[in-house]
Amino acid sequence: MEKTYIMLKPDAVQRKFIGNIISRIENKGYNIKQMKMFTLEEEILKEHYSHLVEKPFFPELVEFMTSGPVIGMIIEGDDVVIGMRHLMGPTKWEEANPGTIRGDFANNTTENLIHGSDSVENAMIEIKRFSKYLN
Ligand code: UDP
Ligand code: MG
Repeated sequence: MEKTYIMLKPDAVQRKFIGNIISRIENKGYNIKQMKMFTLEEEILKEHYSHLVEKPFFPELVEFMTSGPVIGMIIEGDDVVIGMRHLMGPTKWEEANPGTIRGDFANNTTENLIHGSDSVENAMIEIKRFSKYLN
C-alpha cells in the first residue's frame, strides 16, 4: 500500500495541535506505521528543502524548523500522498481553505504546521532520508 512521509512542524507541537492533526489523519482512515519526536538540524534541512536553499526565506525556514521538536510519521493508505496533501491544504496560508489543517490553523506561509511528501517518488526518498530519526 502507498506510504507518505508526514512531519508535524515545531509550531504544531508548540501550539498543541498534535492530537488534533493525528485525529484528522486517523479519521480519514489512514494508518500510522511509524511515529517519533525528534529535533532537526540544518544539514538535513538543506537536503530536505534543497529546492529552496537559494530562496531569501531559507534562513528563516531553517530557524523555524530547528526551533523545537517535530514529529515524523510514516502514514499508509490508498492514494495517501495526494490524500494527505488535501488534508494539509496548499502551502500558502491565504490559499488554504477552512477545513484543511493549514486553512484552520496557519496565518503565515513559513509556519504552516505540517510537511507532507508531494509525490510517491519523493515519499520514498523522504522515508529513507528520515529513517535514522524514526527508528
Ligand atoms: N516556505 C516559506 N515561504 C515560501 C514557500 C515555502 O517559508 O514562500 C516554507 C513553508 O514552511 C513550506 C516549506 O517552505 O511548507 C516547503 O515549501 P514547499 O514549496 O515544498 O511547500 P509544501 O510542500 O510544504 O507545501
Ligand atoms: Mg514540499
